[in-house]
Formats: sequence, structure tokens, C-alpha cells
Amino acid sequence: MPFKVIVAGGGPVGLTAAHALHRANIPFTLLEMRDRPAIDAGSNLVLNSVGLRALSQLGLFDELCKVSSELKDMNRMDHNGNDIGDVNWFHYERENFGTWPRVISRRDLTHTLYNMLPEAAKASILCNKKVSNVESTDSGVRVHCADGSIHEGSIIVGADGAHSPTRRSMRTLAAEHKSSDVNEEQPFLTTFRCLWFRFPGQAVPDLTLGTTAECHGPGAATQLFVGETTAVTGVYERLPKPRRERIRFTKEDEEAMVAKWSHLPIARGKQSHLTLGQAYATCTDSGLVTLEEGVLKHWHWNSRIVLVGDAAHKYTPSLGSGCNHGIVDIMALANELHRLPAEPSESALASAFGKYQDTRRDSTTQGCKESGVATDAATWGSGVAKIVDRWVIANTMAQKWFANKGAEKTAATIVFDYIPGEERMIGKKTWVNAIPTRVEA
Ligand SMILES: Cc1cc2nc3c(=O)[nH]c(=O)nc-3n(C[C@H](O)[C@H](O)[C@H](O)COP(=O)(O)OP(=O)(O)OC[C@H]3O[C@@H](n4cnc5c(N)ncnc54)[C@H](O)[C@@H]3O)c2cc1C
Repeated sequence: MPFKVIVAGGGPVGLTAAHALHRANIPFTLLEMRDRPAIDAGSNLVLNSVGLRALSQLGLFDELCKVSSELKDMNRMDHNGNDIGDVNWFHYERENFGTWPRVISRRDLTHTLYNMLPEAAKASILCNKKVSNVESTDSGVRVHCADGSIHEGSIIVGADGAHSPTRRSMRTLAAEHKSSDVNEEQPFLTTFRCLWFRFPGQAVPDLTLGTTAECHGPGAATQLFVGETTAVTGVYERLPKPRRERIRFTKEDEEAMVAKWSHLPIARGKQSHLTLGQAYATCTDSGLVTLEEGVLKHWHWNSRIVLVGDAAHKYTPSLGSGCNHGIVDIMALANELHRLPAEPSESALASAFGKYQDTRRDSTTQGCKESGVATDAATWGSGVAKIVDRWVIANTMAQKWFANKGAEKTAATIVFDYIPGEERMIGKKTWVNAIPTRVEA
């Protein structure tokens, strides 16, 4: 069988993998359990300069701009609606890298990712394919789906989210083969849960497009993003105690959470603040989900299975990093795969996966930690967290220091080293890794 990649999961990271593999001329089949390529539900996402630069290299920036809006300002209040100091993260990002972060719905992101694929790559995306098990064979992997279909490939890339079935199969195979690289059964810890809901944008009359509003205080924090026609808010709440096992919530759980926090102001108003309860009364779409946190110890099993995105690392959303980091995973993995010969040996594949893991594990561990610290600070998890949130972050000198520190790391982000293109993100900071220049024929 010629070398072929199976991708499990067609979320934002899996669909980015489809672009990357197509551009690397690597044959693939992507298996997605939903009945269509675009995700209709879910909260909005912020794409920062890291994610936008990678997607720009794939030729998607202009299309993404059409369906996303710039984020410029961030208002912050406490639970009583008192101003606790605005922050300028987005201004620093623009100054350093020449672009505002952009907020986009999951639907528009996945729709654009899918639509911008050439027809040949679209034909490699199969919906209604729920991966149930991965078998290792002499020449690669045999992937079983719930509908009884079987898909053969040389390797499988697990992009199937935080509860990844590919990760489960990887663990079983590693244990069966007496490998020392066996992950924990429940690798992520959940300390917070998140209620997100969408409501009509006109319900937030005093908040201009491009402004984010946050409400911080003991036990819960909110984050509101206003788009052209709709607004989406997330409510992060600390659980009574951290849990490892998966928790599923009901509509009654959601309503009880709204009742508990309905008084929270989620956007500043000239006359009065908009409360969570008022906004939820006009809600058109919602969900209550756990916010797992953690980074896997082992990102691959020998030369057969490798994990990307939320399957490998899961962050709280406070810093808007999870998906952006997942996109960087794809750059790192695709670069390794592209360097391999057309028919790579098992040892070459295992070594490529090892290099991919080494490139990504430290920075995702750091990203996960920083996101957790941000959620803890916003929910005033301790006296120190409250002081940091209330007084340190509110200080403009401190903001500048944190922003510059973050910008050093951002500037060192890798690129797709086999995709030539033009630099679109130009600011004060110089990118350490330049986008390869196009060689004219
Ligand atoms: C409230 C909230 C707000 C967030 N905000 C941001 C943000 O602003 N910025 C940011 O960068 N990140 C954000 N994140 C994180 C971001 O959503 C994730 O990091 C991102 O979605 C990960 O993408 P993924 O493709 O790895 O996984 P997922 O988005 O989970 O996609 C996995 C895909 O796999 C499919 N799948 C699952 N099981 C199977 C199976 N058995 N067979 C086949 N297919 C399967 C699913 O249907 C899905 O399409 C946020 C998360 C939450 C919860």
C-alpha cells in the first residue's frame, strides 16, 4: 500500500491537517463523525497572530477576515459591575505582529477551512464516520468505524478532540505491546466548567464591535465577544472539586447554573449593565461543557499513531490558545512528514513523531499552565490570584511586561517550512522563522 495518512476528526485542527497534507502531496482520508464538514454548534473562537499566520500561509487569511471580526479592547468588571481596569493585550498584539486577533464562530471557521480545500482534498473527507477502534497491522493501521466500515492507512493522526477515541486505542495498543510509553487512562483534570451561549448582538447596545467584556470574581468569570449580528458569552465556574472522569451535563444543570449567576454583569452599559440572566433570556444556542486541562506525556505510539490538538493537550479557554496551539501542532507534524521519503520506514516515522512531540510538548505545557492560571485569576481562586487579577494585571506597566514576554515566544513560532508565501503579519517584532519565499519559475 502506498504511504497514506488517516486523520480521525474534522474539527478546526483536523481540517487544518487536511490543508497541510494536501499541500505536502501526502494522500489522506479524513474521518469525521458529524454528518457535515462544518460544525454548527459551539462557542466562538479567537484566532491570534500565531493561528492567523499559519492559516494565512495556507491561503485562508482573506476568506477568514470576511467572516470574523477584529478584537481591540477588553473591559473588565467585578461581580458588582465595578471597573477593575481595562487591558490592552490586543493592542500589543497588533503593535508587535501587525494584526488584531479575530473572533470567529466555529461554524464559520470550519466552513471556511472546508470550502477552501481543492475538490480533490474535499473528496478525501468522509462524514458520518465515527472512529471506534484503531488496529495496528504489519504495514500500518486499520481504522474501524461505527458504521462497520474499515479504512486502511500507513499512520493515523488523532485530531478527534479531548475525549479522543484514537488516544484510547493508542493506549490499549501501547499496553498490549508492553511499551513503557503508556499514557494515563484519564490524562486531563477538570477544575472548571463552562456555559457558553449565543444571543442576538442587538441585546448589547452599548458595547461596540471589537470590544470584549469580562466579569471577574469569586467562583466564576464571564467573557463576552460581540460579533456583527450575534454575541457569545462564556461563563467559567469552578467545580466543588477537580475531577478526572468525564462529566456530562443536562439542560437542568445549565438552567441551575444560569439561576446561580444570573445577576453577573456581562457587559458595561451607559445606564445599567447587561446581566447574564437578561442575555440568557434571548439565547439562541448554548452548551455546558467541562474544561479539561492537561498535556499528554506520550504524543505517539511508535510509528503508527500520533495525536494533535485537543487530543494531545487541553487548555481552559481564558487566553484563547487551545485551537491556535493545535494549528501549530499541524505545522510541526506536517513539516516532519513532508521531510520523509515517499515510502518512509517505520524507524523514520517513529523518529519524525518523536521530533514532532519534542517540538511541541514544552510550549503546550507552558500554554496549558498559563491558561489555567488566567482562569484561576479571573475566578479569584486565592487571595494572591485576586491581587494579581485586580491590581497587577490592571497596571499598564505590568501589562506591557507580560505582553512583551508573550511576544518573544510568539515570534519564535515555526512556519510550514515547505509552503512558500508572503508575510502578512508585519509589526514591531521580527519573526524568528521566516515564511519561505516563492521561487519564480
Ligand atoms: C468555550 C470555549 C471557548 C474556546 N475559545 C477558544 C479560543 O478563543 N481560541 C482558541 O484557540 N481555542 C479556544 N477553545 C479551544 C478550542 O475549542 C479547541 O482547542 C479546538 O476546538 C480544538 O480543535 P480540535 O480539532 O483538536 O478538536 P475538536 O474541536 O474537539 O474537534 C474534534 C473533531 O473530532 C470529531 N470526532 C470526535 N470523536 C470522533 C470519532 N470517534 N470519530 C470521528 N470523528 C470524531 C468531532 O466531531 C470534531 O469535529 C475554546 C474552547 C471552549 C470550550
